[in-house]
Amino acid sequence: MSELIFRNGTILTIDAEHHVLAGDVAAVDGAITHVGGSYTPQTSDYQIVDCTGCVIMPGLVQAHVHTCQTLARGRADDMELLDWLRKVIWPYEGRLDEEALSAAAELAYAELLLGGTTAVLDMGTVHHTDAVFRAAEKSGVRATIGKCMMDAPDTHAALAESTQSSLDAAAKLITRWNGAANDRLRYAYAPRFVLSCTDELLREVGVQAKSKGVRIHTHASENHGEIALVRQRYGVDNIVALDQLGLLGEHSCIAHGVHLSADERRLLAERGAHVCHCPSSNLKLASGICSVPDLIAAGVSVALGADGAPCNNNLDGFLELRLAALLHKHKHGPLALPAPEAVRIATLGGARALGQADRIGSLEVGKRGDVIAVDVQTLHAIPTASPWSAIVYAAQSCDVRHVAVDGALVVRDRHLLTLDVEQVRTRALAAAHKLFP
Ligand SMILES: [Zn+2]
Repeated sequence: MSELIFRNGTILTIDAEHHVLAGDVAAVDGAITHVGGSYTPQTSDYQIVDCTGCVIMPGLVQAHVHTCQTLARGRADDMELLDWLRKVIWPYEGRLDEEALSAAAELAYAELLLGGTTAVLDMGTVHHTDAVFRAAEKSGVRATIGKCMMDAPDTHAALAESTQSSLDAAAKLITRWNGAANDRLRYAYAPRFVLSCTDELLREVGVQAKSKGVRIHTHASENHGEIALVRQRYGVDNIVALDQLGLLGEHSCIAHGVHLSADERRLLAERGAHVCHCPSSNLKLASGICSVPDLIAAGVSVALGADGAPCNNNLDGFLELRLAALLHKHKHGPLALPAPEAVRIATLGGARALGQADRIGSLEVGKRGDVIAVDVQTLHAIPTASPWSAIVYAAQSCDVRHVAVDGALVVRDRHLLTLDVEQVRTRALAAAHKLFP
């Protein structure tokens, strides 16, 4: 029996009543056994981390990232989506070998964990997906990862694949990784977007995802040009097309959803599909602003994500949280997305998008021990009247002091315990230098 105790903080439980408690959070053998008040270890096999002056909360869950893209950080600034993809991102992903992909993913997971993100939905890239899973396994992060699928005839040559080889590769990855590392790693079908795939592949993904019980992760309705091309091909809006292809359900997570009609929002809600809001990425690529308050009002469950390093340019969950809370006040007024609701989206909303709301996303007895402690006594956060306010509007990712995933400490006093940060840096720089000489 091994016990991990986050001692003496202010606890945001994110339970149904948004309880805020004082005291300890304990996890025994990976599962939360105690929330609030003081906890006495039951055995001699325990670890205590001091959380004085900290907010203890569930780890952030990012439901849309591309860890493979991290080495292209700063290489694709000030561009529009379709140009950004065709001129930089696809050629870059096409040049990734196993070593570069591994270096990119380790860099991303190190940044994510140090910044308090404990779980992700990762779109991956077309080839070498095992390297992404291995990096996730080693880093200690909770990750649902897909092999990006691209079998459309006009796919960038180095990424092009046949329908069958794409499906075969996904099937192999499911066998090898879905449920691995004590179910910390899972698989998601990841057709890049409707335009990068054939109808045959998309329909088959819909069928297989249901029969194998795995998630579907795709991009949709990010950009006007993309939407026009989808309408040209199918004669209907993007979300309707996804539905007709059998891809919309409680098990699907759509990244972006920037430009949606009221009918599309209703359809998403009816199917129980999740939308991942990526505010930095949408602003930087000038795609527009996803109307999160309208989605929530329609009954759609929303999550947050940083997307990829080249369109952000970092993977900072706290930055996305703050932006999400600020951005919608412009159009919907100061009451839009109040701080507790924003935190709920960044944690439990993500857990729902990953299909794991029964396991993570809140600090409740029986859930897995994905817990972070955030220092709110920094000069930029004091004085604070409310932990919600401190976390959403004042805290930064560098304030994250301790991080646990599945009851195992992965960051202690701001030091990553699972990967050697200097090695991650050296490998990433060497691989980036090869890719961009
Ligand atoms: Zn993306």
